[in-house]
Amino acid sequence: MNRPFLPLVLGAAFAVSTMSPHALAGAQRSDRAATATTPVSAPISNVRYAVTFDQSTARRRSLRVAMTFNVSGNDPVLLSMPAWTPGAYEISDYVRRVTDMAVTGEGGTPRWDKFDPDTWRLVPNGARAITLSFWYTADSMDNAMSWANREFVFFNGTNVMPYPEGRGTDFAATVTVNTESNWQIVTGMTPGATPRTWTARNYHDLVDMPFFVGPLEVDSSRIGDTMFRTVTYPRGVLSGADRARFWDQLKKVMPPMVNVFGEMPVPTYTTLILFDSTTAGAAALEHSNSHLGIYSPFIVDHEFLPSITAHEIFHLWNVKRLRPADMVPYKYDREQPTTWLWVSEGITDYYADLVQVRGGVIDSAHFLRLVTGKIGEVAAAPNVALEDASLSSWVRPVDGTQYVYYPKGSLAGFMLDVMIRDASDNARSLDTVMRDLYQTTFKAGRGFTGQEWWAAVSRAAGGKSFTDFNDRYVDGREPYPWPTILPLAGLRLNVDSIREPWIGVSTNVDSGGVMVMELEPNGAAQAAGVMVGDYLLRVGDIPVSDPDFGARYRARYARSDGDTVALLVRREGKERTLSLPVRNRVRTEESIVFDRNASPKAIRIRAGILKGS
Ligand SMILES: [Zn+2]
Repeated sequence: MNRPFLPLVLGAAFAVSTMSPHALAGAQRSDRAATATTPVSAPISNVRYAVTFDQSTARRRSLRVAMTFNVSGNDPVLLSMPAWTPGAYEISDYVRRVTDMAVTGEGGTPRWDKFDPDTWRLVPNGARAITLSFWYTADSMDNAMSWANREFVFFNGTNVMPYPEGRGTDFAATVTVNTESNWQIVTGMTPGATPRTWTARNYHDLVDMPFFVGPLEVDSSRIGDTMFRTVTYPRGVLSGADRARFWDQLKKVMPPMVNVFGEMPVPTYTTLILFDSTTAGAAALEHSNSHLGIYSPFIVDHEFLPSITAHEIFHLWNVKRLRPADMVPYKYDREQPTTWLWVSEGITDYYADLVQVRGGVIDSAHFLRLVTGKIGEVAAAPNVALEDASLSSWVRPVDGTQYVYYPKGSLAGFMLDVMIRDASDNARSLDTVMRDLYQTTFKAGRGFTGQEWWAAVSRAAGGKSFTDFNDRYVDGREPYPWPTILPLAGLRLNVDSIREPWIGVSTNVDSGGVMVMELEPNGAAQAAGVMVGDYLLRVGDIPVSDPDFGARYRARYARSDGDTVALLVRREGKERTLSLPVRNRVRTEESIVFDRNASPKAIRIRAGILKGS
């Protein structure tokens, strides 16, 4: 989630998190979870969707959508639009972007109206085949939504494909995409018998395979038994040596992932990336056999690219298949809160780091830096229990805890890994737990319960109880016990004092850029006259949108205490230059390092984590 939405931290001088574009769209939280009964549509069959995106619809930045199906009686057909997309844990109400609804029939003239805010009621009135058609506004650069320009669109099935309310999701369907002959269409869906047509066996698969349409850069390569495709727009951003490096990283992270679960669950996998220079960070959303990322071009040669890629692909197992029972099956008309996003997202993020070090994309020092960074992120956010943060995802808290279950859940996974390895003398690990639950729950066609999760952890640790761990660190808010955990894995925490320039703002990234949310009292930014709501553009000659802004700023001005530097901001649409005093402060920096006095057992555990043994 959205969105899986990964915060891209720009550096310690700014506390930056990526804000969901949904927050800007002002989507309302729905209370439909409380609705007692679901109404039931009359049955429909032979369901076909047609989506048109060509030069003329592109000018409207819209998709033309038609849904055709057969009916056998005259009972009302109830067709609903999803309220959210699995993985993006927030209500988006895609029906808001539907316009120009029309209904036609063969053999009769259907009557229609709305049944509830996101459901249409169609009375066949003798018709045996009915077509529902509408326009869908593709104006949301959000990976759970749809976005078009004059030659390109990405769209999610949840946005444009209504479903019969209350009838289950086990209906097959086809999708036809009509477009210009020289534009490409890429999706993870299974190709059908006719050109530009795809098929799905059920609604879950149908809406879990987004489309890219336009002039795309596409290439593919086999990794193990799986055919991987990399699909990017626009052409030329991830190209040449950059693209070759991307493929090399992919080939390195895949074997360690497959090793955790013992199998690759799909025959093909597609990475879909939209590069956009107005995007300040990076956000991606996982799907059944693909993921869709929207990235700043800055990411092309940034270490975050292989990290977010590994994160999204690990979801192929963890959450797309191995999933908390609270979210099985997905329900598209309401919130599906769970206390387990710390496993679905946090532990996925732990494995994103692990598979990079195990595959050789990063070295062990870099891996330890990532762990340390997560400890810092958690320390910088208000203290919140993992279970509570997971539940709160749906209400998008504004106190800085919205995405804290990513780093904090990752750290909880790291602690569990160390404790299981310690209890089993490195014979078993968190890998054992993941593989065990994948086999015993996903393969049995269901989600895992809390009881099953902790039973699997306990089994891997030779029967050790984790009740106390859960009470303190998952359901509770106690600080994580690094001084006792790290030595078990041959590691220790090092604390340094560092003197460095400090701007004194907290910011959020939205579609307008890096916006000031808060000013530190008596900080440099406040002294310069920066105001909440200003967009920070440039400090000296360093663009604030640079992912390495913090590090570059600190390096450039480390010895300039007392000097001033030009700060370019945008306030109410107008650019202005302020004079920013360079002010140093002393901060303690923690780092995790190899412990020279580690026992042979601790060294085995450390190697086990880093090498996946
Ligand atoms: Zn994720």
